[in-house]
Amino acid sequence: MVHSEPFPCRSAEWTRSDAVHSNPHTTLITPDAPVTAATHGGRAKCLQRLVRLDLPVPRTVALSFDAVHRIAKGELPDIAAILDEFPPDTLLCVRPSSEDPDWGGPGAVLNIGMNDARYVEFCDSLGHDAAAALYLRFVQAYAVHVARLDPDMFDDVSDESAHGLRETLHAYEAETEEPFPQDLAEQLAGVLRSMARAWEGTSARLLRQAKGAPADAGLGLVVQAMVPGVGQGECGSGVLQLVDTTTGLPQITGRYLSQSQGRDALGAGVEALYLEKDVRGRSLEDVAPAAFADLKRHAAHMREKLREEMQVEFVIENGHVHILDGVRVARGGRAAVRIVVRLVQDGILTPQEAVMRIEPHSLNELLHRQVSPKAKRDVLGRGIPASPGAATGRIVFTSADAQAAASRREPCILVRRETSPEDIRGMHAAAGVLTERGGITSHAAVIGRGLGLPCIVGASEMTFLTDKKQIVVPDGRVLRAGDIITLDGTSGQVLAGEPEMLEAALDDAFQTLMGWAEDASDIGIRANADSPADAQTARNFNAEGIGLCRTEHMFFEPGRLTVMREMIFAESSADRAAVLERLLPMQRDDFVQLFRIMQGQPVCIRLFDPPLHEFLPATRTGQRELAEALGLPVSDVIRRIEAMEEYNPMLGLRGVRLGVTVPEIYDMQARAIFEATLKASQDGDPVVPEIMIPLVSAKREVELVKRRVDAVAAAVRAEQRQAFDFRLGVMVETPRACLRAAEFSPYTSFLSFGTNDLTQMTYGLSRDDAGRFMSDYVNQGVFREDPFHVLDTDGVGELLKLGAERGRETNPGITLSICGEHGGNPESIAFCRAAGFDYVSCSPFRVPVARLAAAHLAIGQNVGRELT
Ligand code: PEP
Ligand code: MG
Repeated sequence: MVHSEPFPCRSAEWTRSDAVHSNPHTTLITPDAPVTAATHGGRAKCLQRLVRLDLPVPRTVALSFDAVHRIAKGELPDIAAILDEFPPDTLLCVRPSSEDPDWGGPGAVLNIGMNDARYVEFCDSLGHDAAAALYLRFVQAYAVHVARLDPDMFDDVSDESAHGLRETLHAYEAETEEPFPQDLAEQLAGVLRSMARAWEGTSARLLRQAKGAPADAGLGLVVQAMVPGVGQGECGSGVLQLVDTTTGLPQITGRYLSQSQGRDALGAGVEALYLEKDVRGRSLEDVAPAAFADLKRHAAHMREKLREEMQVEFVIENGHVHILDGVRVARGGRAAVRIVVRLVQDGILTPQEAVMRIEPHSLNELLHRQVSPKAKRDVLGRGIPASPGAATGRIVFTSADAQAAASRREPCILVRRETSPEDIRGMHAAAGVLTERGGITSHAAVIGRGLGLPCIVGASEMTFLTDKKQIVVPDGRVLRAGDIITLDGTSGQVLAGEPEMLEAALDDAFQTLMGWAEDASDIGIRANADSPADAQTARNFNAEGIGLCRTEHMFFEPGRLTVMREMIFAESSADRAAVLERLLPMQRDDFVQLFRIMQGQPVCIRLFDPPLHEFLPATRTGQRELAEALGLPVSDVIRRIEAMEEYNPMLGLRGVRLGVTVPEIYDMQARAIFEATLKASQDGDPVVPEIMIPLVSAKREVELVKRRVDAVAAAVRAEQRQAFDFRLGVMVETPRACLRAAEFSPYTSFLSFGTNDLTQMTYGLSRDDAGRFMSDYVNQGVFREDPFHVLDTDGVGELLKLGAERGRETNPGITLSICGEHGGNPESIAFCRAAGFDYVSCSPFRVPVARLAAAHLAIGQNVGRELT
């Protein structure tokens, strides 16, 4: 029998029983059917939107999560009523429709309804090959998914011809000892049951949970009339999108394959056509220009009305376009930004909607070089991803080698057990840093983030034989100095060789998005910046000032370290002050530069913080050099160094304790700050410096330091006969400072919470050693997250709230902020904003992430307000 209309699915007028109309569980998709993503899944909802746009979508019946759940338990819906929705002899397909397309689902089953009789009909209407291909595809899918036969049994099927079909049907019958089912209702019921059960299986559940789906996530199914894509005239299938997935720039992308179904056009090795005219080969535009024009028009319509870049799955049937589905275009971070900015520019989204569509963490992909998603990864080992971005270079094991490599303009990766302040210059010279020890707030991590330098710490699964200049990786390979490796500081992977990279994308789209985020956010974002380069980066990202300048790094500069050491070795206060006189002009120049770059924005300078011991040479060669410089016997130097050793330096003589016991250092720094203030204010915007006292735990510490700083200010004012203002504040980073904030707040203008030390002291957990067991702790659920990375709002947060409350009690106008690494973490920013903090301060490269997170919070709250 020859059908004049082989695929009657297109008959739009076809209307049937009420059973499947506006039935909340099994409904024909019409413009007003009760379909939602939360009850029927994203695909069903999207199809309804396409129907509302009057696009050529085949008839579709949607089954709700509830209906599918019941099918899995053996309760089938009214199959006859579903079939009644389609004209007789329609081939059907069933596709999954989970709430979030990323959660996956069982594969689609096509050509349901093919049987011996339809095959004969199609041989007449479409030709033997097309008929065989349709039937064969269905038999194979049914055999594997419904009859649960081993897919390997079809390996020997010779081809897709009538002969291949016969072989397949024989194989099916031999294996199941039953003929292949011929009845459409039986076929459809079998397919629905198998897909429902596949979703409820353990491995599928684990897989989707790993992608973030809740344990009880539901699956909807859509039963759709097939437009088979094979037959006479120009027939085929393909996908199209209007943007490039990597860049987000306008670019018609996709493939089309004549005489094909589903996603065949994307299969490996197929000779698919380009869509738009292309010098590389034939295109759909060449073979079916009218269909291509329609398709482009439909895609643009979808973009405008669905307010999103969509990938369109289409079929062409004898020159006519049908839209089977639309899914959000998959995209990386940089494409995502470009896409939303263009949607705003085209009047489709508002700037606030665009801001809300970009996940703050995803900006890291734009801010740094990345390993290309297309690159092959030869993973040597893993550590804690401490500073994002990717860098390739030759391995060096010492800071001196890193500097030597930099002078040869040769990118290198500095490998250390852990870094110390002595490695700063090596870190500046390196393209990336890899350490065996450490956690997210260890030295290498903090400096790496500050410099925007990719960094992996705590890579303890690799064996660091630094003496031999070798690393042994878990699979036994040995890396040596000079070998090329790549650090992926975003994922924590150490890779062999030099995979393809994507450059940072701080382009106009990024700047535009950041401008909108800035307009929306209502908490200040400052940067932690120690050097002019950091300050410049902070300005480039529009930071609203410097929230923490760690001054100690300035003393590791060449030419200063020896003077610093002389100061440490000075016998008397007068000698110490004399040596510090030599450091004063250098320190003043540092501050003048920072003030000038920041152009009148606030700059918060922390007085000297680390234990002095960190400045002393650890090696014999260094000690010998110091003895020479000081004119002392080496034995004297060694003895003095040993005498200064502390059991627990991070809890020893550091921070304000040095300010109290060796006050000349703070005197010199205060003078340098005030003199720089006057100098920078002469030829630029007026400067009001902020001076911050670290590691405070008692009111008297603040009193003592304040008295001396005030005295230095008075002296500078008198000497220079000029007035200036400054603000003195306390860095709250000991639990006691939080508890006693009411006592010292009247003496201070601001409290800045140093959550790195505060976390360390609250947990009694060394920030430099936590990396060794942190992953075990997180994996076993002891900590939800690394508390050095995401603020522990329960414990440390409680202290922050107490400190803020008590500080405000005695000084209502006090400025509150945080300047620990948590300042750049979106979850922690939410906490600070809710607690009424004025600003957060973070590494310069995290400023955009923090700003976007702040904008999300403000916009989210406003939207919430509008809804109530
Ligand atoms: C802190 O402790 O949170 C802090 C910002 O200071 P540092 O990391 O220099 O100790
Ligand atoms: Mg600290």
